[in-house]
Amino acid sequence: MQVVPTELQTLLELIERYPQLHARTLAEVEFKSHRYPVISAEVGAKGCDVPCILFVGGVHGVEVIGIQVIMALLESILSRLEWDSQLQQLLTKIKLAFVPIVNPVGLLNGTRCNGQRVDLMRNAPIEAETKVTFLVGGQKLSSHLPWYRGHQGVEQETQALIQYVEQLKTNSSSLISLDAHSGFGMTDHIWFPFAGSSKPVSSVGLIYYLEQLYQSSYPYHNHYSFSPQSLIYRTHGDIWDYLATPKDDKPFLPLTLEMGSWNWVKKNPRQMFNFAGFFNPQKQHRQLRALRKHTVLMHFLMDLAASRELENMNLELLLKQNNAALNRWYQC
Ligand SMILES: [Zn+2]
Repeated sequence: MQVVPTELQTLLELIERYPQLHARTLAEVEFKSHRYPVISAEVGAKGCDVPCILFVGGVHGVEVIGIQVIMALLESILSRLEWDSQLQQLLTKIKLAFVPIVNPVGLLNGTRCNGQRVDLMRNAPIEAETKVTFLVGGQKLSSHLPWYRGHQGVEQETQALIQYVEQLKTNSSSLISLDAHSGFGMTDHIWFPFAGSSKPVSSVGLIYYLEQLYQSSYPYHNHYSFSPQSLIYRTHGDIWDYLATPKDDKPFLPLTLEMGSWNWVKKNPRQMFNFAGFFNPQKQHRQLRALRKHTVLMHFLMDLAASRELENMNLELLLKQNNAALNRWYQC
């Protein structure tokens, strides 16, 4: 009998229960004679001239807390849409897209990699421009070591996410994505491309502006450290590096939420005896805290998109933000 991970089961139930949730199967991944879907779900405004916010989770199957954070947002939105006229109004102006479980087989197996032992966040068809961090940066030595980039080209799950994001970019007036991960550091990070180059991404001024607006709007909720990923460590094959092309004519802000899981391990060292313990809070009160900790940021992203502040930014302000971003993150 096929075992369906709890979070995937919940997603399927939400799709069944809420007809306004427009779901698609982006890929079906086969593992041990069973098929596991990679599902996208959209709610909100239709048409190509609306901003879109994409919430992604589960690129690394073991990082269940990221899936749960994204699913909690989706459940809250669907529940509130039944009565909350302000949210209904907001969703006439923006589109929300969700891919909560990019790597369903990794989730099933409790692994970072997919069923082929490939790390999907090292598997996009892009090489780092500079030397990467040994092993962590992605390796083709062996599928039995972590951070394996694969030998068969782009994996099905990677391809599904890439294609979907490219469609969203085409069919929206702007796109902000938030890809939830856990497993690095003591604090929560917001990373953005590039992971494989020390050059600035074309939207760096917009990302800097987003951070400034968040800081001034919610000074007591900004527990995030914003930076290009290359300042932390460098990798090959990053999906968001691949998607952040220099020719983007519309605003595209690919953000990665990296939850600081070492803090959970520090507070509860016994988590080290369990692989999932490195990536997920094991105590219920910490899990609940993680589930509510990012709500303000996620709603801020929706409000910011609806305002079209990023799309309508005048050239003078954009140049100012670009310069400020270069001074902050790219001084060597
Ligand atoms: Zn991850």
